[in-house]
Amino acid sequence: SVLEADYGKEDKVLVSIRIRPTEATSAWEASHTIPKSIKLGAQYTKSSTTTPQEFRFDEVLTGSENKPVYNAVARSHVCAAMDGYNAVIFAYGQTASGKTFTLTGDQDQPGIIPRAMKDVFAYIRRTPTREYLLRCSYLEIYNEAIHDLLAPPSSSVSQPVQIQGSGANVVLTPLREEVVTSLKSVREVLERGEGNRRTASTDWNERSSRSHSVFRVVIESRERCAGGEDGAPSGRTTPGFRPPTPGGPKLQARGGRSVQTSVLSLIDLAGSEKATSDKERTREGKYINTSLLTLGTVIATLAENSSKNKADHVPFRNSKLTRMLQPSLSGNARISVICTINPDTSAIGESTSTLLFAQRIK
Ligand code: ADP
Ligand code: MG
Repeated sequence: SVLEADYGKEDKVLVSIRIRPTEATSAWEASHTIPKSIKLGAQYTKSSTTTPQEFRFDEVLTGSENKPVYNAVARSHVCAAMDGYNAVIFAYGQTASGKTFTLTGDQDQPGIIPRAMKDVFAYIRRTPTREYLLRCSYLEIYNEAIHDLLAPPSSSVSQPVQIQGSGANVVLTPLREEVVTSLKSVREVLERGEGNRRTASTDWNERSSRSHSVFRVVIESRERCAGGEDGAPSGRTTPGFRPPTPGGPKLQARGGRSVQTSVLSLIDLAGSEKATSDKERTREGKYINTSLLTLGTVIATLAENSSKNKADHVPFRNSKLTRMLQPSLSGNARISVICTINPDTSAIGESTSTLLFAQRIK
């Protein structure tokens, strides 16, 4: 009952809104403040206009607790990934609206990434009939260049990650993938990536709001051999049973036991706000607008193709992010987009454009 899959009943794309508390400084205060302009329930009413606009979404979440958010918009996707489906979870919204709080969280309120990984290991423990291999990568897309956050900062700048191949055969190279066998090793990987990200930028806050960060886990599994032909005793739960080989560790299909592979991608998108400075309005701003706009078009087209059984062209190739994600977004992929909203009245313009983005992909 820890993880129950009911993704079959759901739409391909789950679109939710998370409204940050107005006073985010105190968790207690925050959880007791409900902004007046928001009607609770699966709707959001913008009260400042004479004719209130109503938007409908799969979930509308408020408050400072990350657990209900994880349960509502991420858990079944994580489960789907363990069952062999590709799953992608995005946080979209203007800077300071709560994307990183939702995905990463903090000590008190762990976000979707640590909760997902906890569930992944719980799932593995509950499935002694299969053996698993988990490989993590962590990268950043800044100005349409992909940087490997697990590579030393100097080499990641001099050697950006390239996207090779196309369609379902997209490969990122060179990209480090770390085998993880426990929550602790995941935490180490994340901390190393964060450290490199900070080192690589002179203005970390600025950089983090102008770049997409992507945490990926490749999940490979195969049925465990009853006799333990590989020397891996049956019932063993840690997936790191095979030493890394050149070209990366991989499970081998043997004796009719096929390998199931899926990818779970957790993505903290660049701030969706309109450019405010001249610098942004030129290069960075252009890249961000293009990639977020392309993402919206790609998801909207995928959702439409899936619900109406159509085969319209999906413009994956218009941005690095969507190109890189093409194998993960196509086919039976499960997608969750959490749009974060700052309820301050001063942010009404950006909040409205976030709602319009969310509505467009629904
Ligand atoms: P973003 O990543 O979108 O730029 P952050 O996640 O960094 O925004 O959030 C900005 C600030 O607001 C942070 O200090 C964060 O801890 C706080 N915050 C965001 N969302 C919430 C929330 N739902 N409850 C409490 N604090 C929040
Ligand atoms: Mg952030």
